[in-house]
Amino acid sequence: ITNQHAQAQALNAFITPLPRAGQWVDRVKEADRRREQGKPKSKLDGRLVSIKDNICTRDLPTTCASGILDKFTSPFNATVVDQLEDAGAIIAGKTNLDEFGMGSNSVHSRFGPVKNSRRDSSGQDLVAGGSSGGSAVAVAADQCYVALGTDTGGSVRLPAAYAGTVGFKPSYGLISRWGVIAYANSLDTVGILGRTTSSVRDVFSILNRHDERDPTSVSAFSRTRILEQLQESRFASRLTSTPLRIGVPVEYNISELTPSVRRAWLMSLAHLQAQGHTIQPVSLPATKHALSAYYVLAPAEASSNLAKYDGVRYGIRADGPDNTGKPDGYLYSNTRGSGFGSEVQRRILLGTFSLSADAMDNYFIQAQRVRRLVQLDFNAVFRATHPLAAAAGDSDAATSSSSDVDVLICPTAPSSPPRLSDVTGPSPGSSPLDAYVNDVFTVPASLAGLPAISVPVTASESGQDSDASDLTGIQVVGQYGDDELVMQVGELLE
Ligand code: GLN
Repeated sequence: ITNQHAQAQALNAFITPLPRAGQWVDRVKEADRRREQGKPKSKLDGRLVSIKDNICTRDLPTTCASGILDKFTSPFNATVVDQLEDAGAIIAGKTNLDEFGMGSNSVHSRFGPVKNSRRDSSGQDLVAGGSSGGSAVAVAADQCYVALGTDTGGSVRLPAAYAGTVGFKPSYGLISRWGVIAYANSLDTVGILGRTTSSVRDVFSILNRHDERDPTSVSAFSRTRILEQLQESRFASRLTSTPLRIGVPVEYNISELTPSVRRAWLMSLAHLQAQGHTIQPVSLPATKHALSAYYVLAPAEASSNLAKYDGVRYGIRADGPDNTGKPDGYLYSNTRGSGFGSEVQRRILLGTFSLSADAMDNYFIQAQRVRRLVQLDFNAVFRATHPLAAAAGDSDAATSSSSDVDVLICPTAPSSPPRLSDVTGPSPGSSPLDAYVNDVFTVPASLAGLPAISVPVTASESGQDSDASDLTGIQVVGQYGDDELVMQVGELLE
């Protein structure tokens, strides 16, 4: 345990680390006893689960890796935390992240960057991926059994791909967001990281419930209908009964793909084909605009969500006229200027601009149009009709598909993790835009609210020693509500 502590500290995966072993070892023993008696509370009974530090916990601080929430502790648990504790899980600590979930490398944290537990072939430190980098590394380095992250535009899948774990983003609205600090509400989901898909499924089965405190949580009635609809429109074909039709989106074969990523993609397709599944190229033409649309919509929602951190209600309060009497002391701007880090300030400026009267039509409205096109693209290729679109009588979105595939397979990220030294320091060798580009394959599923999983695939050429860069995240994306199918296909690739 001492060794584990030292390792955890070196990787900086935790903001509030594992409580002392004495505090939880007894609970593990109790769970072991229950298991021996054949009465475990759940598959997670006595297991350590790490929680991303933008998910509220009553017993530990919740900082969002931001100066503005310094020493903030929530008076309540997020629903997901209650659900896990009721299932017997033990909270293993709060994990490091990009401030408020904004980033792709887990370097924009007031507590310093997360380090990947893998290194490159020359022994250099690599980034963990973000924004749930702490959760991914905590799982990869065996600091816990599974971890919760949040995925707004890829923040569970990207760090899973970089750290070599499984990372699952469920369909929007299935896992409660109550007590999860909002980044961009229309995109935010809670995601799960684990070493295997089966551990991820165990967690999902506990969290996949309606929560009346989250207005976007899908009702129990709709959950049943969604599964019935999917079944109907697929003629009840399942893994065991019929081979699957696997779609390969041609637009994802971009020139920026590194050779090892392309190799892993091809290997995964060959592997599925060898198992009898059919591979079919499909086109998702709006994909090329998805990234820009995401980086208009997410900051717009964020700028509105973050307006509440004004120094009055939560966290820190800087000097202002109210408490100094100085004419140049502005409480709000001083608090926000000193509390928020540079990436968050950049997003607030961007979001505030794109929502302003003069810019609205050119940016926010256009981005919403692109979002709709991205959704229609997916509906056109999946064999199953979008169950919510069908129920809402949205005939455009529910039209029968042109390609009829069950799932899509593509890389999670265009390349392996960058070196930590390239993205940190006073003048990093890369710009904010370089980080945004790594989300190119994850944001489409987010814009459409679809389930997606990233699984680690090793693509070393036979006979060669595999090094860190050979491990690649491959992503499976499915129709809305097809979370179980997505996990099953993920399992086939593991
Ligand atoms: N990297 C993306 C962003 O910065 C995704 C973040 C996320 O999913 N929370 O917005």
